[in-house]
Amino acid sequence: MVTEQDDVLVIGGGAAGLSGALTLARARRSVLVVHDGAPRNAPAAHMHAYLGLDGLPPADLLARGRAEVEGYGARVVEDRVVDIRRDGDGFRAALAGGRVVRARRVLVATGLVDALPDVPGVAERWGRDVLHCPFCHGWEVRDRAVAVLGSGPLAVHRAQLWRGWTADVTLFLGAGAPAGAGDGLSDDDWERLAALGVRVVDGPVAGLEVVDDVLTGVRLATGTVLACDAVVVGTGMDARLDGLEGLGLPTEPVSMGDQVIGTRVVAAPDGATPVPGVRVAGNVTDLRAQVQVAAAAGLTAGAALVGELAAEDADAAVARYRAEQEAPFSARAERELAARRAGDGPVGL
Ligand SMILES: Cc1cc2nc3c(=O)[nH]c(=O)nc-3n(C[C@H](O)[C@H](O)[C@H](O)COP(=O)(O)OP(=O)(O)OC[C@H]3O[C@@H](n4cnc5c(N)ncnc54)[C@H](O)[C@@H]3O)c2cc1C
Repeated sequence: MVTEQDDVLVIGGGAAGLSGALTLARARRSVLVVHDGAPRNAPAAHMHAYLGLDGLPPADLLARGRAEVEGYGARVVEDRVVDIRRDGDGFRAALAGGRVVRARRVLVATGLVDALPDVPGVAERWGRDVLHCPFCHGWEVRDRAVAVLGSGPLAVHRAQLWRGWTADVTLFLGAGAPAGAGDGLSDDDWERLAALGVRVVDGPVAGLEVVDDVLTGVRLATGTVLACDAVVVGTGMDARLDGLEGLGLPTEPVSMGDQVIGTRVVAAPDGATPVPGVRVAGNVTDLRAQVQVAAAAGLTAGAALVGELAAEDADAAVARYRAEQEAPFSARAERELAARRAGDGPVGL
């Protein structure tokens, strides 16, 4: 049974979803935000590179956002969309908690799923001292010993990027890659690494070394431990769409150079997708978007939805107006008399 009907259902309560909801609620649209409490940066203690809020814990940003959104009348519920599909001229969604909700439009802001390299210790330290983004964490480990795990041109790219934050960079080619991964590097790659003073280790990596809950190094299969303060990995990044398959949102691979780094929902810059009535914002369509960019995308998509709904409401008003104008004279006269008897004063014939 449908329990709620809104103008817009926002799926996702991260920066993108909440920013979209804020825009919609301030435009006096009824909005339901559903989020399952799993924003991508949850493991990180602090959020960086957000102008004016640099260093704020990620959870604090979202708590502030939820309060702002609710202050304008939107409802935010912690639940998970497990099924959603078109239903007449709108959409019907089932939540894990048993609610069934309906909306005229949908804003999908579900983020992405990071697939971590299969190296023992990496998942446990993810977002703490296992890092992926120098713009998020580079400053915090400046001048420290950084170990980059990976192979191929993207690993070289990562090593040269992190070299901007520290002169102490070691590239471990044998982490989650076949032995001899260094063979995949070009002469130009080797020269570039040498020129930058990046050390290269080409033996299989057994895992991370952790002492008293502090990362201390990278352990090779030989048992040798090479000290470091932080580990850098690349992740596979795939749009998070579990439970949303019924929308039929098309996805496409995203590449960096020759390497595929993930999949995104196909969308225009204003979040419009090939599925009428559904817009997307944030990491689900822009894998590289940081928090501030995701928030901006939510605002853009939310504003576009306000425009869509205004146009749809105007179309409906025009249809009613025409029907009114085309109604037979006698019917309009009867309505006029009835209105006068009820004390509503004259109405136009
Ligand atoms: C470890 C780490 C640290 C980072 N640090 C920074 C940083 O310092 N600065 C920075 O700018 N960026 C940082 N980022 C990037 C940042 O996480 C993203 O830019 C940001 O999370 C994107 O926002 P979003 O709203 O698109 O997605 P998310 O924040 O991931 O939000 C997705 C939302 O969708 C919800 N959801 C998904 N599926 C469903 C469903 N079926 N039903 C209900 N809810 C659902 C989730 O619960 C969540 O609320 C970091 C990323 C990582 C991995």
